[in-house]
Amino acid sequence: MATENIPYKIYLTEEEMPKAWYNLRSAMKNKPAPLLNPGTHQPMKAEELAPVFCDELIKQELDNDTEYFPIPEEILNFYKMYRPSPLVRAYCLEKELGTPAKIYYKFEGNNTSGSHKLNSAIAQAYYAKKQGLKGVTTETGAGQWGTAFSMACSYFKLDCKVFMVKVSYEQKPFRREVMRTYGADVTPSPSMTTNIGKKILADHPGTTGSLGCAISEAVEVATSTPGYRYVLGSVLNQVLLHQSIIGLETQAALDKYGIKPDIVIGCAGGGSNLGGLIAPFMRDKINGKLDCRIVAVEPASCPSLTRGKYAYDFCDTGMVCPLAKMYTLGSGFIPAPNHAGGLRYHGMSSVLSQLYDDGLMEATSVPQVKVFEAAEQFARVEGILPAPESSHAIRVAIDEALKCKETGEEKTIVFGLTGTGYFDLVAYQKFHDGLMEDYIPTDEELKVGLDKLPVID
Ligand SMILES: *Cc1c(COP(=O)(O)O)cnc(C)c1O
Repeated sequence: MATENIPYKIYLTEEEMPKAWYNLRSAMKNKPAPLLNPGTHQPMKAEELAPVFCDELIKQELDNDTEYFPIPEEILNFYKMYRPSPLVRAYCLEKELGTPAKIYYKFEGNNTSGSHKLNSAIAQAYYAKKQGLKGVTTETGAGQWGTAFSMACSYFKLDCKVFMVKVSYEQKPFRREVMRTYGADVTPSPSMTTNIGKKILADHPGTTGSLGCAISEAVEVATSTPGYRYVLGSVLNQVLLHQSIIGLETQAALDKYGIKPDIVIGCAGGGSNLGGLIAPFMRDKINGKLDCRIVAVEPASCPSLTRGKYAYDFCDTGMVCPLAKMYTLGSGFIPAPNHAGGLRYHGMSSVLSQLYDDGLMEATSVPQVKVFEAAEQFARVEGILPAPESSHAIRVAIDEALKCKETGEEKTIVFGLTGTGYFDLVAYQKFHDGLMEDYIPTDEELKVGLDKLPVID
């Protein structure tokens, strides 16, 4: 089919909507390495994970073979409130750039949480409810996951305790109010309410916190409170599974017009939106059906793929969680307080780490000021105020489109626009006032975290 007259937004009908999540691990020849027990260094068994995670989610976590997991009807019904998310042809951006490239973005900011995180939040809350739990604990960095999970918990009437990284808690008080609107209990982390929080505060007085610290606190509360479990908004295999809805919808929409992407780009924090967006495209690439580049974009201030090590590491600062093999900067790494809060995790999803190690995915890092320049350029022509995290993908999409302008190539570029930036206006303000700085860690600074990686034989 001709690719002229592609509508500005491509939607899907109810029949065309995906009814199952796709498990990218099933297509991988080299499977992601298993989670290890931090004490014995043996692969974690379901029963060892059961005190921490919900049973059904553990099954999804450990299953590298099942291709499709049917989406339960209650979740499909919830998805109907805000899905399909629009796949937009960025005609105005193309014109502004003067590029022959065709640019599409999948916009996940069209729900109150403002990001893709709701796709997995609703699934995780559903399985917690189904198991008869009373409540759930979690952490949030920038606040998007906490917001999404609060929404999901209020929908299924579950108690929700959120540990929010202190720097975000202070920078984004309105995020906290959204969470409280949905009934969540929000504590800045590290806090004096947990043993691990007290220890972290004693060791690092005045710390602004990190996702790794907040995870440790949330896990401690989940495992010490009857009827509670812990959930995580990124990194884990189950989260990538739920987020495959993004990629499945994108591919179904492109297929309607016979479009094949040449480049798929996404920002990468823990890897969930990227893992979800690329899932069906990566499958086709692995099976030799699609020749396309897949690019992960991370902040220069927290460069786990581009400057980290591929090794087993702790997922949290308190070292209570299982060990995961991933590209990591070390669980003790506390990134400079940059504004892409959702991209500040020290490690990367095991699935994406393995794909990157196998040369199936590329990675690049971009500094903050350049990211905000792209964000502003995009906002002015496409009418959406993008999240700083998403703007990492915008930066690279624009750069790729500008390369096409030089070479005259009409490449099709697809990128994930993961969310909106309404809660990030302090960051935009700094950018406009010329006060934004690029924090790029030196090799010596990174060495401190990397030297502390656990030794696994
Ligand atoms: C959390 C978040 C990210 C990064 O998380 P991933 O798990 O890497 O997807 C990116 N964009 C937005 C808007 C987020 O909220």
